[in-house]
Amino acid sequence: MCLDMLRQKKKLLLLLLLMASGSICYYLYTLKLERERDGIVSSTTSRLEREISDLQAVFESEVIPELGALGRPARGNWTNEELEAIANSQRETGYNAWLSKRISPERTLYDMRHRSCKKLGYPLEKLPSVSVVITYHNEEASVLLRTLSSLRSRTPILLLREIILVDDGSSQVNEKLNDFLQIKFLNMVKHHRISTQVGLMQARVFGANRALADVLVFLDAHVEVTHGWLEPLLAPILKDNRTCTTPIIDTIDYENFAYRRGKPSRGFFNWQFDYIQLPLLKEEAVAMPAPHKNPIMNGGLFAIGRQWFADLGGYDKGLKIWGGEQFELSLKLWLCGGQILEVPCSRIGHLYRSANFQIRYTDKDKASERKLIQRNYRRVAEVWLDEFKDKVFANMPHLTVIPTGNLAEQRELRKRLHCKSFKWFLTNLASDFLNLYPVIDPAEYATGVLQSLSSTKLCLERTEVASARPKLGFCSSDRVFPKLEQHWTLTNRRELQSGLVCLEVRNQGEDVYTYHCHRQKGNQFWSFDPKTRQVISGQMKDFRVCLEVQSDGKGVTTGDCDPKNTKQQWKFGYQNNHRLQHFWDNVKTH
Ligand code: UDP
Ligand code: MN
Repeated sequence: MCLDMLRQKKKLLLLLLLMASGSICYYLYTLKLERERDGIVSSTTSRLEREISDLQAVFESEVIPELGALGRPARGNWTNEELEAIANSQRETGYNAWLSKRISPERTLYDMRHRSCKKLGYPLEKLPSVSVVITYHNEEASVLLRTLSSLRSRTPILLLREIILVDDGSSQVNEKLNDFLQIKFLNMVKHHRISTQVGLMQARVFGANRALADVLVFLDAHVEVTHGWLEPLLAPILKDNRTCTTPIIDTIDYENFAYRRGKPSRGFFNWQFDYIQLPLLKEEAVAMPAPHKNPIMNGGLFAIGRQWFADLGGYDKGLKIWGGEQFELSLKLWLCGGQILEVPCSRIGHLYRSANFQIRYTDKDKASERKLIQRNYRRVAEVWLDEFKDKVFANMPHLTVIPTGNLAEQRELRKRLHCKSFKWFLTNLASDFLNLYPVIDPAEYATGVLQSLSSTKLCLERTEVASARPKLGFCSSDRVFPKLEQHWTLTNRRELQSGLVCLEVRNQGEDVYTYHCHRQKGNQFWSFDPKTRQVISGQMKDFRVCLEVQSDGKGVTTGDCDPKNTKQQWKFGYQNNHRLQHFWDNVKTH
């Protein structure tokens, strides 16, 4: 019995021992599993870290801390080799891309806002959030990254719903840049690629169509936003949803990336469609830094309600690649019930390329690319400038021979939205503009129709062919801005020009023709005598003949000048008497 009990105790002990060792084994086994799992995790972590640092190495390894900090000029003692690299990069891109790689994307900027801007408080919870739309075509990665970094660090996160970045058919896909953007900006940056370039207008519309926020902010790919840039742009839109706002555009220097103050101004265009800046009106200057009316936006940087942009039809779909779109959108905005305000408390730096650098956005030759821009200009003039388009065409006659494509949709939109006239625009927004850039250029001696005083219904008319005899046609009702074929200018060079052609005499002054203006005076030299009303060919006194209506009344010829011959008497739509008095000053006549 005792022995039996002893044997049973042994069995129990053995069982206990077995159980204990089993659990130890199990514990050790799970410990091993855990260790292995940890091992896997830590190896993935290090791979991700490695990827990030690899990408950082690609994009940011050359950054020199503090270079260009506070927007100061980025200077260094560069070696000759480095200077050569700088020169090459400037030749290729129009700015110092070599240096850009060395300036931190997160560089600091000096706050150069007007004192009182810093005191303005905006209720963040009331302001709408924005979708920033940036399109680019072959932009340098370092410049693009600085644009995005400045947005991230200087925009209240509550207001920045997303950044929609559109690669408009850049010639090379940069996969690494895409990966880096995902890592650096997470889902704040939504990167899209349009595989075939559509041009900045349509690329912006593509971005706008994907936007989720109520307000769109369009920016160029090479900008840096500054402290407090967004809130003052939004406040006027909150007040009136048909308001579009523009910041003051500061300059980022193309050579050393210095951040320089830009001036407040009122944008406009001259009669050659160059963008110009007019000074503020007196009362606007006094009210600084309150927002003021901006007739024409610069183009690259503005905020606008998403719905209002859509109501305006975005950009004209017929505009291609680049150029003229800022005129189109600005005119459409003002004439169709909206307004543009420049907001001096909002400042954004824009990297202007070197003036010597001619940007090219297509593979086409220079002349063809220029034609694309000119085509855009003509579309804008045809749709929005009314009778004033002729003023532009007189300065840029080559526009008139470029086909515009279909304008029906644009004209329809102008009607549908009950848009006002261009004359309203000039009168209400730019009376000072007309003083600086008069419709009747004082440099011209006379302009408009050239009407015969012997048959007053008839006016001189060029034909479509450049080298041809002009004819006489029924005068346009508007004598100052007649149809183009009847629009003649006695130019400052003392030629009679219409469009691209000038009036000239051939065969010892017997026949009158039109021909390309050769700018050599000679047989294209003309004068007008306000007393006798004669239109006279020839600079030298002894070789002058007068323009005369042909006996059949269909065309013109020349004849010996005779003040009593009514067939030699003419009237311009507009004659600048003051200028005509001085016509012969400093002109050799013998
Ligand atoms: N851009 C584009 N597609 C094009 C041409 C230009 O997306 O076909 C972009 C360009 O990269 C820039 C913006 O449109 O971000 C405005 O162009 P740019 O800066 O050359 O205009 P500028 O400032 O010279 O008026
Ligand atoms: Mn730009």
